[in-house]
Amino acid sequence: MRIFSLFAALSIGGMLSLPAASAQDSTHSSFTYNDGPYIFYENGLAVARWVRNGQFETDTLEAGAPPNMDPAVSASFDAGYLIPGGIFKPARQTEFRGVAKIAAVSDIHGQYEVLLKLLKVHHIIDDGEDWAFGHGHLVIVGDVFDRGEEVTEILWFIHKLEQQAEQAGGKVHFLLGNHEIMVLQGDLRYIHKKYRYTSAGLRLPYNEIFGPDTYLGRWLRTKPVAICINKIGFVHAGYSPAYLQLGLSQEALNHAFRERIIGHPEDSIMADPLLRVLYGEEGPVWYRGYFEDGFTQPQAISILRHLRKRNIVVGHTSFSGIVTQFRNKIIGIDSSIKFGKTGEILLHEKKMFYRGAISGEKTPLK
Ligand code: CA
Repeated sequence: MRIFSLFAALSIGGMLSLPAASAQDSTHSSFTYNDGPYIFYENGLAVARWVRNGQFETDTLEAGAPPNMDPAVSASFDAGYLIPGGIFKPARQTEFRGVAKIAAVSDIHGQYEVLLKLLKVHHIIDDGEDWAFGHGHLVIVGDVFDRGEEVTEILWFIHKLEQQAEQAGGKVHFLLGNHEIMVLQGDLRYIHKKYRYTSAGLRLPYNEIFGPDTYLGRWLRTKPVAICINKIGFVHAGYSPAYLQLGLSQEALNHAFRERIIGHPEDSIMADPLLRVLYGEEGPVWYRGYFEDGFTQPQAISILRHLRKRNIVVGHTSFSGIVTQFRNKIIGIDSSIKFGKTGEILLHEKKMFYRGAISGEKTPLK
């Protein structure tokens, strides 16, 4: 195991004048925080890196072996759920029928504690933070990344939970929001300063910590932007009139993001008329039109007809709680979890939608 201090990592230039010993001295580290692990595939090896009390540590993973990491580093990482080689299949199925229970939450933005609390009080997970939702489906409607400081914890938590759900006959769907796309595309304006330290210490831009040769990066690249369950469409921001004119199927939409947008330079995306709409303000991860003045019920009905859906659930546009338009035709679930205080979870059972409060109270949505 190789250890070097964050202080050393952040002062690469000035460090040359320091005695060698001081660079190894943990008392010189100005920041004590934990982060990781991040797993990189380098020269045929899997290398795990993490931050423990501000110190960078690393371990080359032998086949199937867990990283030699103090468990206190991560509140959610469980090596037992690592998929060997970081080889994931893209989520090919994005249309589901006959699902008895659905829960949906969005725009978590690094607020792990609020997420756990919401999931616990509504029995999606148990007190041990393991799946308790049986055959139910949990939808994370994008924007786990940015703003808050527990992004890595949430990623490893979702990673574990999706496997537990699968084993129980349920499912976790992690949809990409504009902030996942931004980070993967190298737009790092909104990352918490903690991740700037991690990035400096790893000597990698933050997006490369989630690059195509990393475990979490490969995992994220399999995720869809849109799914449909029981004719309820889930997408981070919404389907705009400009999007509908493209005439894309949900499958083609997910394919376009996965294969033609993520990892491609912005110039080439903007040069393509179809991709330009998907990537921009009228695209499904940025659109805000459902919550603007002048959006009418006939427009909502026409969008739903066009897409052959009964309801559309989106996040992205923040409110103090879940908002609903035209008797649940359009439901906005970005309940401002980003502030780290409270939030709501959408629940659906027996054709009814419910607002799930952080107190555990559940009230029908009308
Ligand atoms: Ca958003």
